Amino acid sequence: MIKILMLILLGFVGYAMIQGMIRPKEKRGDKMPRNRSRDGEQMVEDPQCGTFIPIGDAKSANIGGQQHHFCSKKCLKEYKKAHK
Ligand SMILES: [Zn+2]
Repeated sequence: MIKILMLILLGFVGYAMIQGMIRPKEKRGDKMPRNRSRDGEQMVEDPQCGTFIPIGDAKSANIGGQQHHFCSKKCLKEYKKAHK
């Protein structure tokens, strides 16, 4: 009976080790970690001034059929003026 428990335990340890070996590889495959802030919120680039802002704080507007995100209303206005 103890042998069976030991085998199960070894199986778990082996499984955990394999999981630990696989996960870092998946993280390395993540191509755009810079586009995520610390809490995992998506970051978007303001096309007017080039600042990156969390999508939740961005001012969004549909200009020329494309969705754009701005750091402020000022940038939004200036971008709209330049792309009429
Ligand atoms: Zn801006």
